[in-house]
Amino acid sequence: MLNKKIKIGVLGVGHLGQHHVKHLKNINNINLIGIFDINYKQASKIALKYKTKVFKSMSTLIEEADALSIVTPTDTHALIAKKCLTLNKHVFIEKPIADTLNEADKIITLANNKNLIVQIGHIERVNPALLALKPYDVKPKFIEIQRLAPYSIRGTEVPVVLDKMIHDIDILLSIVNSPVKEIQANGISIITDSIDIAHARIKFQNNTVASITSSRIAKEDIRKIKLFQRDLYCTIDLLLGLTEVYRIKNKSQSKSAIQAPFDYKGSKKIITYEKPILNNIDPLKMELMNFANSIVGTENPIVSGTNGRDALEIAIKINKLITQDTL
Ligand code: NAD
Repeated sequence: MLNKKIKIGVLGVGHLGQHHVKHLKNINNINLIGIFDINYKQASKIALKYKTKVFKSMSTLIEEADALSIVTPTDTHALIAKKCLTLNKHVFIEKPIADTLNEADKIITLANNKNLIVQIGHIERVNPALLALKPYDVKPKFIEIQRLAPYSIRGTEVPVVLDKMIHDIDILLSIVNSPVKEIQANGISIITDSIDIAHARIKFQNNTVASITSSRIAKEDIRKIKLFQRDLYCTIDLLLGLTEVYRIKNKSQSKSAIQAPFDYKGSKKIITYEKPILNNIDPLKMELMNFANSIVGTENPIVSGTNGRDALEIAIKINKLITQDTL
């Protein structure tokens, strides 16, 4: 497999799947062999645009491929992923891994038993604005996250917690290296039959507290993270691609160009301001390159099936707390 191109197919070429097609056409060790969508007209349009083949049968595409990108609605992920894995194919599953924990576990077990790669498309993990934090010693004690989006029918097959908040749950689990201790949550359903606006307060065993809000009926798109810890405050705008880091230092330590001095209990301190330069690689392309490299064994998936399952577990707990609360 190391020297051979990986034969890959895309299942579901709607809003996001077409971007998978675009990037997969441009990754060196990948050969995009074709696409399948239950909407043949949509598949034909995308095939024409990106010069690839439309398969009339999902099974034929799965059989001919080494690996599949599953970019269909969330409530179809488990069935399709299990079909691919049963036929010994690696899978990249868009987030969330599945809509129930039981299905997520079945996917992971099947993949482990057959030594196949399962990668989950929690794309924010490779958002350059978040990756810019790598050089800093980030161990936040309080985290605030807001993810608001205007209404769209896409994603409404699951509650907002499983569609939007799950991105932030995955980010939290990757930043806070401690198990979840306690969750409080509330929310409301306004347009759809499930929860459209949700707020959760998550306390971790190391006493870090996170407050996350998600809405799918907002006026505008907002995706912001604020991290607070001793001597550091950081704001990340995942949408605009802007990371700003404020640190408190002793005056003598600082080489930063932008700084504000202040006195505290007789010692001279400064607040420094840094705006790290962000890497400009496309996050989806980065995830798919990582998937290809994981298949050939030169990398590990940035977001594994187990990571996807862990985020889903917290999301399901939050959604359950909210629905119990609103009964
Ligand atoms: P979409 O509705 O625009 O596209 C889904 C496509 O799948 C449609 O073209 C539909 O015809 C097709 N489809 C439906 N059932 C199918 C089946 N059984 N077999 C084959 N094709 C099928 O939805 P979308 O916004 O592209 O979302 C797709 C998935 O991607 C969802 O799981 C969503 O959560 C995820 N997503 C992730 C991100 C991200 O930031 N990582 C962003 C958007 C969507």
